[in-house]
Amino acid sequence: MAAPWEDVLRDTAAIREAALVAVDAALLAGVLMRTEGRPNASEVVNYAPFTLLPSAVPRALFEQAYAVQQDFNLLVDAISQNKEFLEHTLASTIKVDDFTAQLFRIYMQVLEEGLAQSVFLGINRSDYMFDRGVDGTPALKQIEINTIAASFAGLTSRTVAVHGQVLKVLGKSEEASRLLPNNPSKGLALGIAKAWELYGSPSAVVMFLVEEVQRNIFDQRCVENELWNRNIRVIRKRFRDVFEKGSLDDARRLYMDGQEVAVVYYREGYVPQNYDQQNWEARLLLERSRAVKCPDIATQLAGTKKVQQELSRPGMLEKLLPGRTEAAARIRATFAGLYSLDTGEEGDKTVAAAIADPDRFVLKPQREGGGNNLYGEELRQVLEKIRDSPERTSYILMDKIKPQPAMNYLLRAHSPLEVSECISELGIFGVYVRRGKEMVMNKAAGHLLRTKAIEHADGGVAAGVAVLDTPYLV
Ligand code: ADP
Ligand code: MG
Repeated sequence: MAAPWEDVLRDTAAIREAALVAVDAALLAGVLMRTEGRPNASEVVNYAPFTLLPSAVPRALFEQAYAVQQDFNLLVDAISQNKEFLEHTLASTIKVDDFTAQLFRIYMQVLEEGLAQSVFLGINRSDYMFDRGVDGTPALKQIEINTIAASFAGLTSRTVAVHGQVLKVLGKSEEASRLLPNNPSKGLALGIAKAWELYGSPSAVVMFLVEEVQRNIFDQRCVENELWNRNIRVIRKRFRDVFEKGSLDDARRLYMDGQEVAVVYYREGYVPQNYDQQNWEARLLLERSRAVKCPDIATQLAGTKKVQQELSRPGMLEKLLPGRTEAAARIRATFAGLYSLDTGEEGDKTVAAAIADPDRFVLKPQREGGGNNLYGEELRQVLEKIRDSPERTSYILMDKIKPQPAMNYLLRAHSPLEVSECISELGIFGVYVRRGKEMVMNKAAGHLLRTKAIEHADGGVAAGVAVLDTPYLV
């Protein structure tokens, strides 16, 4: 998978020059983040971390990832409508994991009342690594699918121009011209716009539900701007604002400050720290409403790691996607080994195997946002501690994916410029809109490549570990 710039990697003078150009190009292109010190002010901003050079990605695997995205969209949508599956799959998890349990309670409560929502919008990102097989051939293996608040569609849309310029500065114009255009922020906005239109109230707004700490605001603004360009009004609110000013009318239309809301796009609400009692109440109010939630709570549950693990059981995909054998096969081809830790013989065997050979596996709790998984010695210690406790069912176990590393420079403010051994994770954005039973839109909307130094087992861009990258197909 060698990229054609191995030759320049050790030309330190050329690299230094290119890095200066790269940082200015990123600032000019809007590859921006607020600073850690002032996460809620735009007076001082910096560039979001990114690789100096695009990373090589095998073309066949890149195309495979795009080709399976519509299947994943259908699958997530099917799971979100399958109460029996969600109930059965999450039964053991919700006994021990309070966060999933609380989401599940709201899910059941909303179903009991009857859904007011009739238009559904899914925005997800399916993430993969390229697993190196015994014979050295890389294979596309899914890490996870994110069904809520999947980020970086905005910033990644602006990164490709930066990498193009860097390649030109390094005398690689021909290669620069081969970088693929990529604009997932537009793809996401088209989905939101379609849902807004089908909601059918031209004066209603789109509400971005945002966190208290908004360091990644520019990524969201890219999507927002695409909506304003289509004359769709966008407001940004926190759970706290919804608790104080949100209300439903008799038809369960959602109002904020007297303004009707057509679409709620969550960039918040995916980790326990996002919630206190009032925020849970706000979430319930939103879920009960007629507004299009992206995602609704069922779709959020469809993205849990426990669901991912259950999908890998033989016959499960075929059951969830009746009559779509080929789609099921395409999806299954991307699965790594996934194992349940539920109480019983199967779980006992899994625990024993993981304790015997921890480096083969990753132990995952039902959490999002990076930095939660356990590896190696730590994995072994935790499993030994909880092997006889129901607590183990709050985790799933997964085969560890081992990609071939490649050399690159990770550009990060206030960090020295040095070459690192890196691995990459490819994400494909999926967007779909359903009205009642009818699928109105189902698309792959663009991609995101994130790269990190191999010494970090875990963590994404927001967690300060991975950086933005651009695929160079080989
Ligand atoms: P999160 O919801 O926290 O993003 P992920 O499942 O994406 O959880 O895991 C976080 C990170 O851990 C990934 O971005 C990847 O770098 C690493 N990781 C997760 N699963 C695996 C795996 N099976 N093999 C190797 N690395 C993994
Ligand atoms: Mg992830």
